Order: sequence, then C-alpha cells, then structure tokens
Amino acid sequence: MKATPPRISLAEAARRTGALMRRGDPLPSAAAEQPRLEDITECLFFSPGDGRIWLNDQRMMLMHTRSFGSLRRELIDALGLDRARGLLTRAGYESGARDAQLVRERWPDAELVAAFMAGTQLHALEGVVRVVPVEFEIDPERGHYRGEFLMEHSVEDDEHISAYGPGSEAACWMQTGYATGYVTGMMGRLVIFREVECRSTGASQCLVIGKNAEAWGDISEDLRFLHTHDFPGAGSAPAQPQAVLGSGVLASEASDQMVGVSSAFKAACHMLHRVASTKATVLFTGESGVGKEMFASMLHRISPRCNEAFVAVNCAAVPETLIEAELFGVERGAYTGAHVSRPGRFERADKGTLFLDEIGTLSLTSQGKLLRALQQGEIERVGGTSTLKVDVRVIAATNVDLRAAVKAGQFREDLLYRLDVYPIHLPPLRERREDIPLLMSHFLQHYARLHGRKVAGYAPRAVKMLLGYGFPGNIRELQNMVERGVISAEDGGVIDLPHLLRREQLGSDLLLGVSRQGALKPGVLDPPEEPAAPALPLLDRLADSATGGVRLPDIERELITQAVQRAQGNLSAAARLLGITRAKLAYRLASLPGAAEGQAAAAPAAAGRRRQLSR
Ligand SMILES: [Zn+2]
Repeated sequence: MKATPPRISLAEAARRTGALMRRGDPLPSAAAEQPRLEDITECLFFSPGDGRIWLNDQRMMLMHTRSFGSLRRELIDALGLDRARGLLTRAGYESGARDAQLVRERWPDAELVAAFMAGTQLHALEGVVRVVPVEFEIDPERGHYRGEFLMEHSVEDDEHISAYGPGSEAACWMQTGYATGYVTGMMGRLVIFREVECRSTGASQCLVIGKNAEAWGDISEDLRFLHTHDFPGAGSAPAQPQAVLGSGVLASEASDQMVGVSSAFKAACHMLHRVASTKATVLFTGESGVGKEMFASMLHRISPRCNEAFVAVNCAAVPETLIEAELFGVERGAYTGAHVSRPGRFERADKGTLFLDEIGTLSLTSQGKLLRALQQGEIERVGGTSTLKVDVRVIAATNVDLRAAVKAGQFREDLLYRLDVYPIHLPPLRERREDIPLLMSHFLQHYARLHGRKVAGYAPRAVKMLLGYGFPGNIRELQNMVERGVISAEDGGVIDLPHLLRREQLGSDLLLGVSRQGALKPGVLDPPEEPAAPALPLLDRLADSATGGVRLPDIERELITQAVQRAQGNLSAAARLLGITRAKLAYRLASLPGAAEGQAAAAPAAAGRRRQLSR
C-alpha cells in the first residue's frame, strides 16, 4: 500500500513545532495543501436573481473602488484623519476576522501554512490587495506569531494617492486592519500589524509587519484605532453573530427557530419585545412555515404571564362542528355524546395566553363568540346558560389575507379590527436569506444531537443550493431538509445535495460560481443525470433512418474523418484514436472513396502547423 503523508491539523501542528519561512525561501506552495486557491474561489458565488453575492455563508457586495474612494475621502474630511483611520481599520478588522472564521470552520483540518495563507488569497479574491509573504514564524503552541508581507496594488493607496497625493503617513488602514483581524482570528490572540512602508508615502510598495501584541512594546496607538474596549481579549475567538432574543431563553425548545441576524428577523423580534409586557392582542401574519407558533410561544414566555398556561389551538385542525366546544367548553347534555361537562381552551388558558393558529378558518358563529370573549372577557360553554369570566391574552395567527376574507364575507370585520391591534408580519425565509447559514448550523447541531449522529458539516454545493433555494415551505422546509440530511449523511461525513433533496427538487434557481479563469459560470448544481437509456444494439444505433440498414464504408469514412478532425489533422494522433497504425490510417484514407478531398484539405494545414512548430 502506498503511504500518503498525513494531513496536519492546526491542533496537531500546535503540538509540533509550527511553521517557519525565512527571507529568500521559496514561497509556500499554494497548490499543495487545502485550502488551495480553487477551494477558496469555490466559496464565492453569485445569485443575481435575488441580488446577492456570497462568500461561503457571508453576504458580500461589489463596490466601485471610486465610490469607496469618495466615501473614504468624505470620512477623512468630515471626521479628521484619526477618526477616519479608526473606522476603516475596524472595518478591515471585521472582514479579516470573518474570513478567519470562514477558514477555521470550512477547513478545520487545514495545514498550518495553507490556513494562514488563505487570508492573503481571500483578500486578493475580494479585490483589495495582492499579498506576498516575505517571512513568517508561526508557533501556535507558544502562541507566537511574526510575519512580514509585501502588499501590492492596494486599493486604498490608489484612492488615497488620487485624492491627496503622496504624503508622510501610511494609508493602507483597512488592509492593515484586515491582517490584524485575520491573524488574530486564526491565532486566538491579539496579533497587531503595522504598515512600515507605504506607496502613499512614496515607497514603491507597501510592507506590513505583524507581531504578537506584547512583542511590539507600546501598542496604545494601535489599540486606539482598533477601539480596544470592544476588542476580544486574548484567547477568545472573534465575535460571531449570535442569535438574538431576550436572554436566558435561547436554550429552550421553543426558541429553536428563533435564530437570525437579518434585519427582517430583528425587526420582528423588536416588535415582539415591545408588545410582550402588555396585554394587547397580537396578530402574526406570514406564510406557513415561517415560525408563527414559535414567535407566539416566545411572546408568552417573555410576557408577565409566563408562569401561567400557554394553550395553543390550530383552528384548521379541529372539525368545524367541534371547534366551539373545543374553544369554549361544553355542558353535559349539550349534544348527543356530551356525557360530561368539560372546560374549553379559553378556560384552560385563564390568566395565561391562548394561541389561535389559522384563525381565518373559524366559522362565522365561532368568530362572533370569539369577539365577545375578546370584548367582554366572557365566554359561555356550548349548551350552557351562564357566562364565565376569563382573563386570557389572545395571540392569533393567519397565513391568509384577512382583509380579503372580510371582503369575501368570510371573516367579520369587527373581529379583524379587534385582532389587528398589533400585527407582526413574519417574513418568508427567502426574504431573510442572511439567516439561512445560522439556521443551517443550528438545525445541524440540533438534529445531530437528537439522532446521535456525527456530521462534519455541509458540502460546498449543498451550501450553495440552500442559499439559492426558494423555500416555499420556509423554515419548516429547511428544518426538514437538514433533518433528512443529518439522517442520510455518512457518519463523520458531510451533508451533500442528494442527502437534502429528492431529484425532482433539484431546481433551476439561478446561481453563478467563479470558474478557474475567474469568470462567472452557471453550474452550482451538477446537471441531473440522464436516466440511463436502454442500450440499443450498435447496428440499430448506426442504422440509416431511410433504409434501416448500415453501409460499412460510410461508417468507416465518418469515423476516420471525425478522428482526423479531432486530432486537428495530426495523422499519428488520429490513428491512436482509432487504435490502428499511422500507416494503416494513411492507406485507408487514400483508399476510401470520397475521403480524399477531406483528407487533402486537412493534411496540408496540419503539415503547415507542424512546420511552424518545428521552427
Ligand atoms: Zn500602503
């Protein structure tokens, strides 16, 4: 058996000696170890159909460098050099930290040097700067880092010089911030980069040096630009987007889908928080699967009624004839089969919260009773004669347009106004795609734990598919897909497309990747395999459609012509394609009727090419 060299993970490398590259050493080979440049470009893809560009799970944007230049100039003019420098340094730091997070998560077993070099490749891919390493020492075990890099074509210098001309201070603030953010993110401790030579001061290229914070001596100046008070301390990873909603409620089951960073999601959470402490009726609207029941349950949990009952009824799931008894209770003998009196959901939710899902399906009679319960806080059991006082906060949800239902005479207008006091619209998942990565990792962990599986993550094309997919079934659909993926993936393997989708679901949502040549190309999804056609006998496949027969000389001539064309007139190559010698091919070409002209045309051209090549 052939021995392959073991891959060294960051953790293993930490136990060994680390990495060292001295001045004059050949550049580390970017092709040898993952992540290679093509692995990194694989992460970048375009979704012009919905106006998004992704770098793995981070949304990106293309911006004109001139536009960045004018923004930068206005920042400097409005805030002064120091504050503008701080802002841009921190913006660069944020990008570097995010790219480090991408590399750590995507290639956890990356070889040490390749993982650090990936930052320079990402920065180049993002169109900011070309980075050439001069020398570096990395020793994760001791937490030691020292690196020296040349930066070429820095976008910030171009803009700085065109606005201000060469001056006395280095200007690659964002790039320096990026390097600090990236290496700090990789090392898990503060490594500060400084630009010691810069094109903006007249140097021919920019030179940055990175060292551990403590190795620099006085770093108060650097920290001033990095805004130390919210700087992650030594040993901690850079800040990651966290699920937002209240505190201490995230661990619970109902908060499972309460995960998001998108502005649409945050807006809904903000509204939820505002209304939670009141007694107001809340109406959730949105497509099915967007998590209305989760929001309702969360609303109860962060409300003053959190220690009382939370009672949920899906109005569409209860037959129309039973819904009134279900909601308001029933007195013994009210109808055939009502042998005992029992309380309804309203009574059970007394002092607590009642969640009425799919409220648009209630009959007009039930709507009238519901209105009375909301207006007077009174209910009457079916078949009962007395009214009961209840103190219930009602939360309703609907996936239909209740206004349209009112117009159609299917929903009471007065009830709609009663419910519509504080509507919260929950956006469909396709309008909050920024949340998909968070939900993906959230559900992956959840279902891996639930089903006792070890799943390493998602295959790149699975990530691309999920980020581009329309999700008609919203979060519930994503959740089901991930659960299916966790169950179907190999233990220790990754979730790939076939684990997530049935073939007919492999849709045609437009997504573009980046080809080796750097151009956009379609093809995130492999084309679906053609169903294997039953093999026809060769004779039938070659048969002439008119006669149903085969003329051997025609087929021979066709094969020879195709082979010569494919070999671009090179007879030796064409002969190899056909499995015969060059002499035999030349003989057959000469003897074939009608082949002579084609050959006559091909051969001189080929001979001409050969002469050119041999010169
Ligand atoms: Zn510079």
